[in-house]
Amino acid sequence: MVSFSSPAKSLSKTRGTGEAVMYRFLQFDKSFPLRSVLLVSRHLTMALALLTSLVMGCEASQPSPDITLEVSSCTSRVDARTLDAVAALVYDLDSLLEPRMASGEASLLTIPELQHLLSDEQWEVVAGLLDRANTISEQEPLSCDRTEDRDRFVALTTDQGRSFFVLTDARADVQQLLAAATADNVVLTIASAHRNAGYQLFLLLFYLAQYDGCLEEELELIALPRASEHVCSDRQAIDFATAEGTTLPEGGREVAWLTEHAADFGFTLTYPTTSDAGIGSEPWHWCWHPANSSSASNQLDEE
Ligand SMILES: [Zn+2]
Repeated sequence: MVSFSSPAKSLSKTRGTGEAVMYRFLQFDKSFPLRSVLLVSRHLTMALALLTSLVMGCEASQPSPDITLEVSSCTSRVDARTLDAVAALVYDLDSLLEPRMASGEASLLTIPELQHLLSDEQWEVVAGLLDRANTISEQEPLSCDRTEDRDRFVALTTDQGRSFFVLTDARADVQQLLAAATADNVVLTIASAHRNAGYQLFLLLFYLAQYDGCLEEELELIALPRASEHVCSDRQAIDFATAEGTTLPEGGREVAWLTEHAADFGFTLTYPTTSDAGIGSEPWHWCWHPANSSSASNQLDEE
């Protein structure tokens, strides 16, 4: 049994699916000016680099050992030109996807649709980056159905007014789980539900700047489309969150409630702390399986 002080720490040790860090940002899906974050963070990095070089230039020509060490520790950092190209296309994509964010429709973006939103030159950058990420990543492809048939999903709006897409067959169980938690005075919200591969790829592009272009570090926290359970359409992965929309803390009462009751609604914990598959604990990531549904027998009768 290994205990971690935070989800982010546990994910950094093993394969992760990007949730710990992602949700701190994605909870602002509808209202936060994402493009401002990107530009400010990129400009801040450049300004600091310029300032550092100016100070170093005045004092001495010796670079800081700390800075040298940090830069050389990443063996898969994309070059500055690619990083700028990605920041620019993310800026464009963010504007194009903005109208679909509030309804949750953005999460249904397919890879062909993503490509269609970009110029040929931009797509070349994305395809090259995905190729490289697929090559360096040790994330195994998940064996699951990835049908992106829009008719299989339905919008679910939480009490907090955020909308997510879930498998139509899973909606009743998700709603009943949330209601049962509320009845037990445990407030659970949803941070993320179904994501088509194009949206998962968009997330990879979006967060690249947060890691200053270091792919290996980003891939410890953001899953490739081939490895994210949220992309599967034969099950429904849900990331639950606290009332405030933050990641569920390990050992918290929300996780305790889910551990006791989630199975009643067809959910199992995908990455438990005790996983012996080298996968980091994700106490917020639960997956609904049709065979475990509370109404599985009814569905079989209907079919
Ligand atoms: Zn998840």
